[in-house]
This record gives sequence, structure tokens and C-alpha cells, in this order.
Amino acid sequence: MADEKLRFVCEACNYKFERVKTWKERICPYCGKKAVHEERSVADLLDDPELGTCVPL
Ligand SMILES: [Zn+2]
Repeated sequence: MADEKLRFVCEACNYKFERVKTWKERICPYCGKKAVHEERSVADLLDDPELGTCVPL
């Protein structure tokens, strides 16, 4: 199976990029800060009770 790509976004600079699913470093390739998380759609966030609380309404 090929490496599955996920979309990530940096909270520090809002830079969006793709990495393979197994990527563990979570360091932004643009600003170098370790403030990267998986980019998820609003629908995904609302479906997830834990992450949903992080969404400013
Ligand atoms: Zn960044």
C-alpha cells in the first residue's frame, strides 16, 4: 500500500501542507515551530466531541 497522505496545518503561521500518515515530527516546514496538527473539516470537528470543544463558535 502506498503511503497515505494527510493534510496538516500549522497553528503558528497557518501554513498548510501534506505529509505521509506516518509522519511523526509535526514540525512546520515553513516556520519550524512544533505547532502542527492535522487539518480537519468543520464537519469532522463537529462530529468529534473532544476536538469539537476547540472550535470557536
Ligand atoms: Zn508554521
